[in-house]
Amino acid sequence: MSRKILILPGDGIGPEVMVHAVRVLELARDRYGFDLEVEHALVGGAAIDAHGEPLPEATLKLAKAADAVLLGAVGGPKWDALPTAQRPERGLLGLRSGLELFANLRPAILFPQLAQASSLKPELVAGLDILILRELTGGIYFGEPRGIDVDPGGNRRGFNTYVYSEPEIRRIARLGFELAGARGKRLCSVDKANVLEVTALWREIVEDEGRNFPDIDLSHMYVDNAAMQLVRAPKQFDVIVTGNMFGDILSDVAAMLTGSLGMLPSAALDASSKGMYEPVHGSAPDIAGQNLANPLATLLSIAMMFRYTFAEAHLAASLEGAVGDVLDAGLRTRDIAQGSVDGIDVVGTDAMADAVIAGFGRRLEAA
Ligand code: NAD
Repeated sequence: MSRKILILPGDGIGPEVMVHAVRVLELARDRYGFDLEVEHALVGGAAIDAHGEPLPEATLKLAKAADAVLLGAVGGPKWDALPTAQRPERGLLGLRSGLELFANLRPAILFPQLAQASSLKPELVAGLDILILRELTGGIYFGEPRGIDVDPGGNRRGFNTYVYSEPEIRRIARLGFELAGARGKRLCSVDKANVLEVTALWREIVEDEGRNFPDIDLSHMYVDNAAMQLVRAPKQFDVIVTGNMFGDILSDVAAMLTGSLGMLPSAALDASSKGMYEPVHGSAPDIAGQNLANPLATLLSIAMMFRYTFAEAHLAASLEGAVGDVLDAGLRTRDIAQGSVDGIDVVGTDAMADAVIAGFGRRLEAA
């Protein structure tokens, strides 16, 4: 069965790293028989330049028809003066809502070889492997009513609505239990149930859904404590599930524990595990076109795609293993070379990707 994968290179360093993503896919096809069709389309600034809008209808149509979407990054100074509704980043939001991607998976993994890059003590973070599952299409970012009006006293006031329905909570909770089941079997649900009714309901539904997953160790934590625990002892967590706003904040905290934006993949999934996979970083206009971008976040995003959309755990593990191998061999792009010691070889985007792809090929052949 042929899988359709849509490649959206985007802007800045996006196209530079996405070239290598296609090579990884072709290798999986040629050496492992992973049958696929690759298509390309424009999004973000590149689409604005070509078609006058960040998410052309044709791109959305291809994305809807694909089994998975791989996105580079969008944005850059060239488009910064445009009104918010026409900016490149709108393309991303349009894809998320158009594809109904309700679940955002952000792993925070610290390869032991990079423990020096973290702002925390190496022993607190070496070997860190946690997964933050954030609800992506509900909560206070989307609730109605919202706006700014004037109260009877003539004072302006701003307001948003924090709302979650039971089905919305249940489907993200269920995914949290399933993800924990495939990992360390521990799920921590983060809320503010002592203050907000909406998250009291969240806690009740998560608890109820947990009865279907008796082998998962479920715990609950208030968001303020979770923020503190993430920087105090992050390795205590396995999977964290939380709402849109808390997840937005906590996933950035977790990301920075690893100290390396160029290493972090992410996925946004719909109800049938179709996904859009992208590195957490942006288009890095300051280094675009200079062979300086770290391609590993994008390559690790492909590993997530293999695992979560296509259930190809072996391909995922081989690619992640190949990344570990090149780090063991001392290869570093400039962004992850700080604080390193002897035996480190600072390389560019292409050399780093070449090394991972060669190692991926070797691992597939050895299988
Ligand atoms: P950024 O993530 O692009 O860059 C922040 C810093 O990290 C820069 O110094 C950059 O050089 C560095 N960096 C990022 N990725 C790197 C990589 N792979 N290898 C080496 N260094 C890397 O964030 P920014 O500068 O705030 O934003 C730049 C543009 O990207 C903006 O237009 C912003 O809106 C957009 N953006 C897009 C996405 C996305 O497409 N998902 C996410 C964030 C920002």
